[in-house]
Amino acid sequence: MPPRGATVAVVVSRLSDAEREGIARHLLVAARLDAPDRVPLDAVARTLGVDLAPGAPPGCAGTFEGNPLRIRYNDRGHPAQVAAVLAHELAHLAAEVAGVARPHDEEDIDGIAAALRMPRAAVLRAIRTVGWNAERLGGAFPDVEPSAVFARAARVAEGVAVFRAGAGRTIVADERLEAPPVRACERRLVAAVRATGRPAVDPSGLGAWPFVDPGDRGGIVVLGPSLAWHLAHLAESA
Ligand SMILES: [Zn+2]
Repeated sequence: MPPRGATVAVVVSRLSDAEREGIARHLLVAARLDAPDRVPLDAVARTLGVDLAPGAPPGCAGTFEGNPLRIRYNDRGHPAQVAAVLAHELAHLAAEVAGVARPHDEEDIDGIAAALRMPRAAVLRAIRTVGWNAERLGGAFPDVEPSAVFARAARVAEGVAVFRAGAGRTIVADERLEAPPVRACERRLVAAVRATGRPAVDPSGLGAWPFVDPGDRGGIVVLGPSLAWHLAHLAESA
């Protein structure tokens, strides 16, 4: 029991990846979409009786109102950016339907939004079809910013995506995997892309690709299955 007079902080635990998946899937099923390859977000909203009102309040990309159901969103800009805002607001609706307490954790909402735009089954199908090829995976989800596609693929298919922009390095992997360290293999691939501006692929299955998100300067993604990553690490440290 806390000492008298102490403030008890309420720690709201984040949702797990599986919970985020479930919440997104529930909304898609409610919109009568079963394992689609591409999710028509505006059709989802309409099927669910959500009024879509272009034009968000100043300083805000989008808002979600519960009564009546309405999403106001900025409909100007690159289609992928507009879709990102719409998916984010629909994810708030999905969280609401699932009974997630308010205020919603924005990282949870972004996770649910990613699962709405790129259903797990569709991502796995795409990887089976095109492999761990960033260019072709991006092509499988043309309505989504490339970086979001790579991050989603790494999370749902036990891969690794390392984003390099200037000196920055960000890793996305399955939440159960330990983040891999920078290794010679990654450095080699990134150096090759920087030198040529073209993709570079390693026999281990890892590759590096230059990419640009709409409205961004872009960077390089190192992408591949995590098993290959760890095998390559073993080989290099042997
Ligand atoms: Zn939000």
